[in-house]
Amino acid sequence: MPTLYYAKDADRSLIADRKVAVIGYGSQGHAHALNLLDSGVDVRVGLREGSKSWAKAEAAGLRVTTISQAAEEADLVMVLLPDTDQARVYDEQIAPHLGEGDALFFAHGFNIRFQTISPASGIDVAMVAPKGPGHLVRRTYTEGGGVPALIAVAADASGNAMALALAYADAIGATRAGVLETTFDEETETDLFGEQVVLCGGLTALVTAGFETLVEAGYQPESAYFECLHELKLIVDLMYEQGISGMRFSISTTAEYGDLTRGPRIISEGVRAEMKKVLAEIRDGSFAKEWIEENETGLKRYNELREAGRTHQVEQIGAELRSMMPFISAGHERIEDVSGG
Ligand code: NAD
Ligand code: MG
Repeated sequence: MPTLYYAKDADRSLIADRKVAVIGYGSQGHAHALNLLDSGVDVRVGLREGSKSWAKAEAAGLRVTTISQAAEEADLVMVLLPDTDQARVYDEQIAPHLGEGDALFFAHGFNIRFQTISPASGIDVAMVAPKGPGHLVRRTYTEGGGVPALIAVAADASGNAMALALAYADAIGATRAGVLETTFDEETETDLFGEQVVLCGGLTALVTAGFETLVEAGYQPESAYFECLHELKLIVDLMYEQGISGMRFSISTTAEYGDLTRGPRIISEGVRAEMKKVLAEIRDGSFAKEWIEENETGLKRYNELREAGRTHQVEQIGAELRSMMPFISAGHERIEDVSGG
């Protein structure tokens, strides 16, 4: 049986005793820091000097200091920098301030799994990885809910690292939704697989290919957009609330028959074989190596691909159609963060 934890399982006093440093104030950083603050935790935010987030974090009521200073003051350091920047910042500004009895936390296992960060012994190394973007980690907390999280321990120097991770998860609201125990390997590999194959890569490629197929066959791009992108939310909401069968219950029997018979033809054996290849590239470290190299060589390919996506017809049509539906984004801050880790 999987180990799932809820609020009743967490010992909040473990985090109440700690001085916590949240390093970074991006998607996850702002959410963790503010939720910890509202949960009464002694939290400071560590940022680069000159960071644009400095004033923002202070305006939100947080104490902000440099990364080195925050790491020095704290006995629990949560690293919420982009995964590709973590190793350098860790070596230069965090590691020198970590000692026996301190705890080093991550929200994604990437750098531990691919050994770009190798913490010294004597330190607890744990993960609290919310399974949702930062703005939702914050929004659901303020609404009395939470985003589920995965917790894992890579090094248990204190003998109490899992309980500490659970207390941290509790303080950011995750135990209200459920906290699942996992390992750094499982979290990292399934997270990368999920975002590459299903949530981000698979989905955007599916939507775009469906759109292009209809437009190339001579249908109006507006129809193609409504069919292949806009309606997706309805279907996903139903799956999120009631599972796949629940969704099928709500669609017409014609839609359901098409779903049951055509879906497996789209996700063919060839597609499944490619999924396995993508998983193998994640597990053998070649995806991580490629992504780190891409960062080190100026992100040329990344920027080209991103620009091509941004200027695609489905985006132009979508922007026009959504401008006539201002209610869609009303009341929601612009979502600038994606799956992340
Ligand atoms: P982000 O890009 O939104 O924010 C990163 C922060 O680090 C920003 O404050 C940025 O200004 C700062 N920063 C960037 N480069 C820096 C550098 N070289 N030195 C110092 N500061 C720097 O990142 P994020 O999406 O919040 O991701 C943080 C961690 O959380 C990652 O490990 C990620 O995998 C994980 N995670 C993210 C999400 C998500 O939804 N975004 C979900 C779960 C886990
Ligand atoms: Mg993710």
